[in-house]
Amino acid sequence: MNFFGYKNGELYCEDVKVRTILEKVGSPVYIYSARTLKRHYNVFKNAFVRTKPLICFSVKANSNMAVIALFSSMGAGADIVSGGELFRAVGAGINRKKIVYSGVGKTPEEIVYALAEDILMFNVESIEELEAVDEAAALMGVKAPVSIRVNPDINPHTHPYISTGMKKNKFGIDIRYAQEAYALAKSKHHIQVIGIDMHIGSQLTEVSPIVDALKRVQGLIKDIRKNGIDIQYMDIGGGLGITYKDEKAASPDKYAGAIERALKDFRGRLILEPGRVLVGNAGILAAKVLYRKQNGMKKFMIVDAGMNDLIRPSFYDAYHEILPVEKTQSRLFKQDVVGPICESGDFFAHDRSLPLLERGQAIALMSVGAYGFSMSSNYNSRKRVAEVLVNDKEYYVVRKRETNNDLIKGEGIPSFIKIRSKHV
Ligand SMILES: *Cc1c(COP(=O)(O)O)cnc(C)c1O
Repeated sequence: MNFFGYKNGELYCEDVKVRTILEKVGSPVYIYSARTLKRHYNVFKNAFVRTKPLICFSVKANSNMAVIALFSSMGAGADIVSGGELFRAVGAGINRKKIVYSGVGKTPEEIVYALAEDILMFNVESIEELEAVDEAAALMGVKAPVSIRVNPDINPHTHPYISTGMKKNKFGIDIRYAQEAYALAKSKHHIQVIGIDMHIGSQLTEVSPIVDALKRVQGLIKDIRKNGIDIQYMDIGGGLGITYKDEKAASPDKYAGAIERALKDFRGRLILEPGRVLVGNAGILAAKVLYRKQNGMKKFMIVDAGMNDLIRPSFYDAYHEILPVEKTQSRLFKQDVVGPICESGDFFAHDRSLPLLERGQAIALMSVGAYGFSMSSNYNSRKRVAEVLVNDKEYYVVRKRETNNDLIKGEGIPSFIKIRSKHV
């Protein structure tokens, strides 16, 4: 359920025409619906009304300051994976005591920064990281609050690139050695163990892998508690999927029900790290048709957005629905929708049935609110596009389109290279 749809043949985001935004802000452009973001947060939160968990929005799914601030204003915390995300989360008003820090490669500088910000906890993913956190905390004369991320070795039945809780994945500490890791953590003077953490993968459509993982983790908690370690928080990560095409993703209610049943004996606070489910279908990428062409039997629609703007089709072979911004009378033809980048992997769809659009007409790539702009790059020296947030009848540019000067910001040509003519 979201607030994008047609009225009189024109695609709207809430009460604003997508075409109006394209005219005023330019193309391509990411457009988010505040009403949809709020709805998704409330549906998710209300599904867990019995356990009242701390909901930490996974910032990497959509890192725009306005989006983080919107969730912050609704009481959300943040799940971060870098110092940059910590900076964003704090800047967007997230309560520091609602920030959890995940990721296998936190640098010593990032650890110091997070300690100085006094976040809720570090989700530690290796013994060496545990030692690094202890050292940093010792230097600062503080105790670092820590959860250990365990790898429960569960197959989440999702795309291999987004599964994270199997032995062969780099994430977490093998559950078989987790007890030793906890014993070691307890012995460290500058570590305070406060919880346990897992995150088994993304775009999960079934809840059974999470329930299986929870069973394993709960067995471990019993053993850890026997050793006198207080597990106050149980962070079960994110990963609930959404419908892109015809997947039947479990509803937040079903997800919550299964988790609450599996955790009925757990005494402590539950933490969740949803990303995709909150933002995925709250965003679209609108782009204009540049050219049409045909090579042999194949028809191509070349648009002004590329894989640098939205990499999910190229990277994960992801499906995104494509809609014309204005409905047309044209019949449908199988077409490849491609971008301007010099890579054959630069496509949004293969052999998709779409009307023949004219130059200048626009399409919308649907459900790109998660891992869309946040995974975008400047490849081919393309300026990153603008982001717009719609709220009822109003729209706001929440990130300006980059300029040529933004592209070369921080670059310099050393003096031993003689520039023949200087145009910049
Ligand atoms: C990416 C990530 C999430 C969010 O995953 P979604 O599938 O977007 O819900 C949560 N926790 C951790 C540790 C992550 O890396």
